[in-house]
Amino acid sequence: MLKALIFDVDGTLAETEDLHRQAFNRAFAELGLPWHWDEALYADLLTVMGGKERLAHYIDTQHAPEAKALRGLSPEIHARKTVAYGALVAEIGLPLRPGIARLIAEARAAGIRLAVATTTSRPNVDRLLAANFPPDAAPFDVIAAGDEAKRKKPAPDVFLLALAGLNVAASEAVAFEDSAAGISSARAAGLPVLATRSRYTDSHRLDGAFSAVSDLGEPDRPHRHIAGVAWPGGVVDLAGLIRWHETLDGQSTPVQAIGTNR
Ligand SMILES: [Mg+2]
Repeated sequence: MLKALIFDVDGTLAETEDLHRQAFNRAFAELGLPWHWDEALYADLLTVMGGKERLAHYIDTQHAPEAKALRGLSPEIHARKTVAYGALVAEIGLPLRPGIARLIAEARAAGIRLAVATTTSRPNVDRLLAANFPPDAAPFDVIAAGDEAKRKKPAPDVFLLALAGLNVAASEAVAFEDSAAGISSARAAGLPVLATRSRYTDSHRLDGAFSAVSDLGEPDRPHRHIAGVAWPGGVVDLAGLIRWHETLDGQSTPVQAIGTNR
């Protein structure tokens, strides 16, 4: 029985990734560092999950001779980046992706539990929710974020943390992801994964999801089907998810994973 939906944040709930990129560039400029992450470089860096880890990887690979000194500067860079990200969300806004608000509302009305499982820092999650939901809405029952999980995606830790918080089994939930590392993480936690391609997904693969679509879709703005399970009318809704989940019927290896290779 489907009891819970668990969402990644960056690229899944909203197209946050480019704001993260811009926030890093603001932090670099504030500290007088002559670094600029363009979209192509950032697409590469996104294979490293977690902002702090991404920054450390960049320093180690692109600035190896001064890596030791620069690593000492990392906490300051990351702290400024988090502040800059908040400012950018306030300036530019950060709308939810198509179908997210609708599906969340459908799930809440039906008593389906909702969680977030993300490598991003908790303040970033709170800002996104504050920008899109009334102050007292609390759309998610559980928020598993950032350093609460010992290992970042693609390790299963953050999804296992969300499942434990929800007190549901992986076979009773569906995960939503936009990246290869995220899909691997959810799969390693035993969850079936529905993949929505995001702005930065193109350089990644969506293998392992049972369904891949351009977004969740809206009745007046259907999504584009990419691979795997298709959704009537180009819309992922709760009724469709429940119907699909019922077909699993407690099989031990329920998910026919796609190999989209795109
Ligand atoms: Mg993501």
